[in-house]
This record gives sequence, C-alpha cells and structure tokens, in this order.
Amino acid sequence: MQIKLAADIQCDSIVDGPGIRSVIWFQGCPHACPGCQNPETHDINAGIQISLEEIKEKIKNLEYQDGITLSGGDPFMQPEAASEIAKYAHELGYNVWCYTGYLYENILKNPKLTNLLEQIDVLIDGPFIMKKKSLECIYRGSKNQRLIDVPKSLAQKEVVLYDI
Ligand code: SF4
Repeated sequence: MQIKLAADIQCDSIVDGPGIRSVIWFQGCPHACPGCQNPETHDINAGIQISLEEIKEKIKNLEYQDGITLSGGDPFMQPEAASEIAKYAHELGYNVWCYTGYLYENILKNPKLTNLLEQIDVLIDGPFIMKKKSLECIYRGSKNQRLIDVPKSLAQKEVVLYDI
C-alpha cells in the first residue's frame, strides 16, 4: 500500500498531544480553512510517496516516544493507510491521536471511515476557524475543535470529551 505524506515522520513533538510524540503528516486536505498553517499539505498530488512497510519500519525504530499523532493534511483522506498505521502503532504500545477537519458525527456516518476511527484514542475534530482561534486551546487551534475520547464515545454512543 502506498501512502502520500507531506514530510518525513517528525519525532519529539510536545504540542500534538501529551508527552513526547511522533507526528505523521498526511498529504491531502479538502477543508481549505482560512488561516491554515499547512496549506502546502492540501494538494493530494503533492508531497512524498512512501510504502506502508517503510512507515512501519520507521515507527518500529522510534525511541523515547510516548505516542503517535496522525496529522496533515487530513488523515481521513487516506483512511485505509492511516488505519493500518494506527493499528501497528497500537501493537507497539503507542497511544494514537488524530487531527481531522471532519466532524466526529459525520465520520461515524461514513462506513469507509469507521475502521480508522476505531483505531484512534483521541480525535481532534472540526475545521480551524480563525475567529475562534485562541492561545488558551491546548492541542488545538480554535475553540470549536474538540478533543474526543473515541473509545468512550463509541461505547457510550455519544461524544465524550477527553479529560486532559
Ligand atoms: S483541516 Fe487542518 S490542514 Fe486542512 S485546511 Fe483545515 S487547518 Fe488546514
């Protein structure tokens, strides 16, 4: 399986979830949020191509990381690949956080996206909205975005926010 990424895995991030994390930057995003900080990630035809096996090898060789964060771009543009990556990260004992411009409720309605959703521990959902930008937001850019505890939300059939 081939994956389109915006860049190589970025290690040692402390702003994309709790602890020290490795971020996988997916290429491709349809949301076009005004003020997006990563506009170069929008075009699905740009970026770099890498195989799933190569990504797995890189994840296997990580050291001193607490978790994996899927970002971009929008990982839900490549749901099969992102799901495989998240599953593998879990097998190695990492927790998995994921950023998306889609809303949790809309992801739930799309059967092509639920496999990926089920592999995520915390989903930061919704578009970046400049008017709602706040430096008080932890791990997100604007106040409309939610930190969702996915396993609890799926079990309780309602959105359960992640308790930081
Ligand atoms: S969802 Fe994220 S990457 Fe996509 S346009 Fe909005 S802020 Fe940028």
